[in-house]
Amino acid sequence: MKILRTVEELNKLTNLENYKSSSIGFVPTMGALHQGHSSLITKSKSENQIVICSIFVNPTQFNKPEDLENYPRTEEKDITILEDLGCDYLFMPSIDEIYDNYIFPEIDLKELELVMEGKFRPGHFKGVCQVVYRLFDLIKPTKAYFGLKDFQQVAVIKFMTKHFLFPIEIIACQTIREESGLAMSSRNLRLSEAEKKDSLIIFNTLQFIKENLENFDSIKTLKDKAINYFHKGNLTLEYLEIVDQNTLTQSNEKVKKNLVVCIAAYCNKIRLIDNMILS
Ligand code: AMP
Repeated sequence: MKILRTVEELNKLTNLENYKSSSIGFVPTMGALHQGHSSLITKSKSENQIVICSIFVNPTQFNKPEDLENYPRTEEKDITILEDLGCDYLFMPSIDEIYDNYIFPEIDLKELELVMEGKFRPGHFKGVCQVVYRLFDLIKPTKAYFGLKDFQQVAVIKFMTKHFLFPIEIIACQTIREESGLAMSSRNLRLSEAEKKDSLIIFNTLQFIKENLENFDSIKTLKDKAINYFHKGNLTLEYLEIVDQNTLTQSNEKVKKNLVVCIAAYCNKIRLIDNMILS
């Protein structure tokens, strides 16, 4: 695997005839790689001639400085994982390479920015769009792979790709979980074994909702019951929303089609998110 650290090195690659005529699969990450990330690389490898992964802890998408500071970084281990998976290129730029002398186009994300992650992490999706726009512009992939673990992020990326007319197919990949059900996340590295056990209340609540979808006459009642269920555990709930998969807005009280439930919660200081498609 070739490691590229500058835009200049990357441009040299993307100008090659062989690169231009190949299908390019791109997997953007913030590192501290786990099996969730590996699944995206593996899928990308099975569908493209060249696979390029990026590792960039993007400062503009963190709305709390201490979260950015404490974000896990495991560069050497990440490189080994990517080499073992047969990734072709790793783009690992500095902050200056991405942000110096670059003007980002504005984008109005509308409702997507006002609900759930958008509401509780102001500016987060603007930051995500900035970095993904820059990476798409530089790497010019054929397909880009994102995890449904970040359900709302997938919606934002699809919206942005369409808005700026990027000729890139966005591939949404299923959430990879630990055997216990806990969704894999780089942030899990900061959880103790006891905290991991406590965090299972998120997955259990998602399952509670899925199993009880038909047992309550309105989504509001189901949501109230689910919040009560969640509070039996030790985590602090930030939000639990049952929304339409496409619009991410609360759906008609009686209609139980095309739904997803999304949860964000704190296990002590660690913020965790997860979701489950219901129907
Ligand atoms: P991150 O490094 O957290 O920015 O994640 C990079 C990509 O990996 C994003 O598209 C995430 O949605 C995806 N991802 C993270 N965790 C998982 C998981 N458990 N299963 C599948 N994809 C994941």
